[in-house]
Amino acid sequence: MTSIDTPGVAASDGSPRLVRDVVCGFCGLGCDDLEIEVSGRAVRARGTVCPEAAKLFLRRGEEPDRSASRAGEACSQDDAASAARDILAAARSPLIAGLGADIDGGRAIVDLAATFGGVLDHSASVGLFRNFAATQRTGWLASTLAEVRNRCDVLLVVGDDPTSAFGRLFERLYPADPLFAKSRRVIFLGAAPGERALKQLDGVAVSHLPASDPVAALEALNGLVAGRRITGETIGGVPLPALADTAAALQGAAYAVATWNAAEFAEGDLVAERVTALIDALNVTTRAGVFPLGGRDNIIGINQLLLWRLGYPLRTAIRGGVSAHDPDLFAAANAVKDADVLVWVSAFRPEPPPASLVEDFAGKIIVLGHPDTPFDRDPDVFIPVGTPGIDHAGTVFRMDSIVSLPLGALRVATLPGVAEAVRRIAGAVA
Ligand code: SF4
Repeated sequence: MTSIDTPGVAASDGSPRLVRDVVCGFCGLGCDDLEIEVSGRAVRARGTVCPEAAKLFLRRGEEPDRSASRAGEACSQDDAASAARDILAAARSPLIAGLGADIDGGRAIVDLAATFGGVLDHSASVGLFRNFAATQRTGWLASTLAEVRNRCDVLLVVGDDPTSAFGRLFERLYPADPLFAKSRRVIFLGAAPGERALKQLDGVAVSHLPASDPVAALEALNGLVAGRRITGETIGGVPLPALADTAAALQGAAYAVATWNAAEFAEGDLVAERVTALIDALNVTTRAGVFPLGGRDNIIGINQLLLWRLGYPLRTAIRGGVSAHDPDLFAAANAVKDADVLVWVSAFRPEPPPASLVEDFAGKIIVLGHPDTPFDRDPDVFIPVGTPGIDHAGTVFRMDSIVSLPLGALRVATLPGVAEAVRRIAGAVA
């Protein structure tokens, strides 16, 4: 087997090649050490990877790509682009959602919205805006992945075991490397850690507080850290002595960090607010920070892009050359009620527009999506696009917002990326 380090370069003898140090852009953790075997056009992850990466890096070999289509009838990419353009030109109020694209694709989408008008929202923005609700009220002291790795000695994990959504989280936060070895403790406040999490935390002291109501448990922790008298046998499902022990561990830490995935809680903004208050209270006597989880399908990068380009985050509308932001009105779930065209973009995974958006939607639907996307109802226009980091190079942002990651191409692309597909749609207008 030939082993090379440069993505996009074929082995001269046609044998499978192993591409090392591949960056993964799927969940926001930004792992950059994957090994991917490429054989012709077939791609698969090698070694121990998380289930998400194993599934999403798997690409078939020589079979032809799915073609573009109009109302389920195969057509050329140019014909699909032309049909999409006609639909958008006649639209009164487009909603451009999903937004699973690399930065270049995001730029083209913003240009599309500037040309035809439209509301912009990402498929994973629910958790992001629950966190924004907390930061807008109080601000927060946020940690980076590197700070957690280098400094955090007590980590509070609120909610479900996060490795179901962020498969290598603890491997990334607490690598099994003597360089980082020190006394560390991880406290799960909510569901018990699963097998994967425990395996990654081998050698780390792990404890579990089975909180049925994490918001109430966090409020009690806040009170204990602030020195208030808390009464009762259990709070939020956790015995008071266990909460007192946790409060003492957090106060005794050199650098405590609390992490949660706001998307998993119905009351995610309250969780974010209580965690933020706890971290503020801890910072009176020691150092502490929040590490919010998120970042799926480059949501952080697309949000940053909108801030650079428009001065507003996601959930922004562009109409008549003017942009306006409203976190409720322009959430896709609400904006769809006023939309007559839905443009759905999902290049990272075969994810169709959710039933909540399309089941009562009477307008036209245009999908720029992964070629394996299944549909219950054929969209009016389907344009299959390549995947960033597999079919073409690109840039995505890590979940802590401070690092942009370069994705390489692993094989010769036969489908356009989102940027090219969008420019084909908009091109004739320009
Ligand atoms: S944890 Fe996330 S970034 Fe890392 S390999 Fe899995 S899907 Fe990719």
